Amino acid sequence: MQQQLTGKVAVITGGGSGIGAAIALLFAQEGADVAVLDRDGQHARAVAEEAGAFGGRTAALAVDVTDGEAVRAAMDRVAEELGGIDVLVSAAGILDETPLLEMSEATFDKVLAVDLKGVFLAARWAAPHMVARGGGRIINIASQLGIKGGTGLTHYVAAKAGVIGMTKAMALELAEHHVLVNAIAPGPVVTPLIEGLSEDWKAAKQAELPIGRFGQAHEIAPTALLLASSPGGDLYTGQTLGPNSGDVMP
Ligand code: NAD
Repeated sequence: MQQQLTGKVAVITGGGSGIGAAIALLFAQEGADVAVLDRDGQHARAVAEEAGAFGGRTAALAVDVTDGEAVRAAMDRVAEELGGIDVLVSAAGILDETPLLEMSEATFDKVLAVDLKGVFLAARWAAPHMVARGGGRIINIASQLGIKGGTGLTHYVAAKAGVIGMTKAMALELAEHHVLVNAIAPGPVVTPLIEGLSEDWKAAKQAELPIGRFGQAHEIAPTALLLASSPGGDLYTGQTLGPNSGDVMP
């Protein structure tokens, strides 16, 4: 079968685990050269090695997405080593369940730094490489919680709503450079991220899903492939797609 990302270079932040790792592997399977960026360098290397089995070039970089200089250096290095950047997926994220009445300013700042500022920084330093190449795709991983809210997650909800808004702003600015920017706002997906959430939280969440179950990371990756590929993704920009979001009303 025809591979959909042959000749493309894709950078995936948070690619060392969960949804980011699943996207890195699917993109590699579809012919892309893949750079896996993660705070956890060991996980990044393991995923890059697995991705390399599909035959493309890979890179693994230990990067904290909250560190602007590190993100800039990483994007420049990827572009130099792999010949440019065509696709960015921002999947790095953290979460913890803290009631508003117990949430410290430091906790709020910590989550916003990774889940909102990290998405800005990755796009800020990957986009120039796409502009230089005449186009590209940016895919920001938001969350359904950024649309509908969620208890114990004021910081996370704020960050994810911010990602959805920022995606629209980036889409408008980068359209003239042929860089398409979209978000994916998944419902719950079984990954290490949500292991720490309470059983009550998970049961309530499951009850509101028409499909009736949590998703798996490999079920989110094809949405990213759609947005990254052509012609499938050619007419999407500023959009937010919601696999297993549970929403059946606009
Ligand atoms: P995960 O914990 O499996 O993966 C997140 C990855 O991000 C990890 O490898 C982690 O090391 C990395 N990371 C965290 N902080 C970082 C930092 N400062 N710099 C670089 N890397 C960092 O979680 P996941 O569920 O695969 O999450 C991926 C994305 O999907 C996140 O943005 C998350 O908010 C979002 N999301 C997850 C769910 C879900 O239910 N799992 C639902 C909706 C959205």
